[in-house]
Parts: sequence; structure tokens; C-alpha cells
Amino acid sequence: MINFDKRPVVIAGPCSAESREQVMSTALALKSTANYYRAGLWKPRTRPNEFEGVGEKGLPWLREVKETVGLPVMTEVANTEHVDLVLKNEIDAVWIGARTTVSPFAVQSIADALRGTNIPVFVKNPIHADLKLWIGAVERIESATKGDVIALHRGFSSYGLKKYRNAPMWEIPIGLRSEMPEIKLFCDPSHISGKRDLIQSVAQKSMDLGMDGLMIESHINPQVALSDAKQQLTPKDLISLMTSLKIRDLNLDQSQTSDLRDLRIEMDSIDERLVELLSGRMNISRSIGGYKKENGLAVFQLSRWKEIMQSRKVWSEEMGIEQEFLRLVLEQVHKESIRIQTEILGSGLGEDS
Ligand code: PEP
Ligand code: MN
Repeated sequence: MINFDKRPVVIAGPCSAESREQVMSTALALKSTANYYRAGLWKPRTRPNEFEGVGEKGLPWLREVKETVGLPVMTEVANTEHVDLVLKNEIDAVWIGARTTVSPFAVQSIADALRGTNIPVFVKNPIHADLKLWIGAVERIESATKGDVIALHRGFSSYGLKKYRNAPMWEIPIGLRSEMPEIKLFCDPSHISGKRDLIQSVAQKSMDLGMDGLMIESHINPQVALSDAKQQLTPKDLISLMTSLKIRDLNLDQSQTSDLRDLRIEMDSIDERLVELLSGRMNISRSIGGYKKENGLAVFQLSRWKEIMQSRKVWSEEMGIEQEFLRLVLEQVHKESIRIQTEILGSGLGEDS
């Protein structure tokens, strides 16, 4: 059983177990701050021929951490073979990765392999923003095991330019909490951020939303990490991040009903995505500006502007947005786009998007 009296419960450790030395030295350095030690043995990599984890070979290293450093250990399980090995080797807890949660067949087979055990299971959200699929995975594990089942928020994948590696979309974990209030909710700021400098603010936000714990990736030497190098913190940086976190009680602001608070969380999350999209659009303007410069084209092309206004007018009708409002917004966006392109062309003339 996990002791939830302390908030946040801290899970820390490298993305992947790489060598006995790396596993042991990272664990020793994290001993004072972590409640659980994580290290992935089987790594789900997007492309083949990348480092796919050390596999079974790392199980004795985790046991050594447990026995000599004294930290309970956990790793990812993605199939029944992993579950059998983990149970045989007395690993203390497991997590189900985002790429596995998307498949009800995979989750069910893991649930069947775990049936009757009381090992705590952390269920990461699926890669894409599907609250029901996440809830379904938690339910499948809950109905099989006798131990703690915890939901672990690691953000949602989206395509193109973006601030986060995986958009937090805070309304989704909040939605899970309102549908399953008895389930503890953790946040994984590392996989949301994708880069070190965002981890602190994501971790703080999750604490402000009253989440119960954190999973943060930490490597003794992040520069040489074989996976997720950009998002891993040194143990020292993780310790100072933890000391700087402000842990407030939830419901501090009694003037807000929880419905209003949830709606505001959703609104903030949409605004953040709007800003992300605008930033992506301005980057495209920069590329168009570069193209026009190289090819000696004028910045402003009237036919293109007319086409833009016409297609967006149709979109506003389809989406139920006041046409005049959209026209005003687009005019401002267009103006900024022209400013950027004109700057690139190095002249005070011209327009377009
Ligand atoms: C991980 O925790 O290292 C991992 C692979 O996570 P996710 O499933 O969230 O991508
Ligand atoms: Mn990782």
C-alpha cells in the first residue's frame, strides 16, 4: 500500500535503466527526496533501432536499489511477460504507459496477469485526449487487483509546433477526478514538458490543482541519457525543484464553486492552446516571408486575402462564431503576419499572410 499522508508522494528516477552504475548512483542521490524509484526496463520507442531498454537484465539492479538504498522500486509493464517478471522479482509497483493505455486489449491482458495481486498500479493517460479510455483502463485494473490503482497524468500528444511535448489539457485529469473521486491522481511533468525548463511550472500547477503526487525523471548525468535526455533533471536539480514547490491546500478559494473552478481550468487550457496556435501561425508567416524574399514576391496579395476571408467566414458559420467577431480577430492576426513578413523583407512595404 502506498502511504498517501505526505503530499506530494514523489516518484523519481531515470527514464530508462541503462547500467547498474547509473541505476545505483541515481538512486543514492535521490534517496532523500524520492518515495519511489522509477526506471524503465522495456522502453516503448516511437521509431525502431533506438535504445529499447535493457529489459530483464535490469531487474537485479532494481532489486539492489530496493535492498541497499531502501527505496521501493517501480517500472513500466506493457505485456503479460513483463508482469510475470516484475512479480517474480518483487518489484514494488508498476505503471502502464500512455501507448499501452490506448489499447483495451493490452490493458485487459495486463489486468488479467495482475489479477489477485496487490501491487500498486499507476495508469498513465492514453496518448490522445480521451477521458473515457483512461477511465476504462483504470476500471479494468481496479476490477482485477486488490492494491492501489492511481491515475497518472502525462499530457496529450498533438501534431506540429507546440510549447509542451504533450499538452497538459488540465481539464481532462480534472474530469477524471470528478468522475472517479476515490482515485488518487498523480502528475508526470517530465513527459508533459519534454524540456527541463518547463518542469517546475507544470509541477506547481499540478500541486495547485490538488494532485496527490509527482513522477519526475531524474538521471545522474542527463546529457548522456539514452532516452528523454532533454527532460531529465540531475538529482540535485530535482531536490531544489521539490523544495521550491508551494504546496497549498485545495479549495483555498471558497468563493468559487468546484464547477466554476473546473470551467476556469478548461478556459485557461484553451487559451494556452490558442496562444500556442498563434505562435505556430506566426512561425509559418516567417517561413512565407523568407520564401517571398528569395523569390522576389510582394508581401501583399489581394486574391490570397480574399480567399482567407471567404474560407474563414464559412468556418465561422459551421462553428457558430459571430462573423464580425471573427473578422476583427483575423484582421489583427493578419496585421501581425504582415508586420513579421515586412520585417523579413527588410522594407516598410507590403502585406499578406
Ligand atoms: C516513461 O515514463 O518513461 C514513458 C515512456 O512514459 P509515457 O508512457 O508517458 O510516454
Ligand atoms: Mn521517459
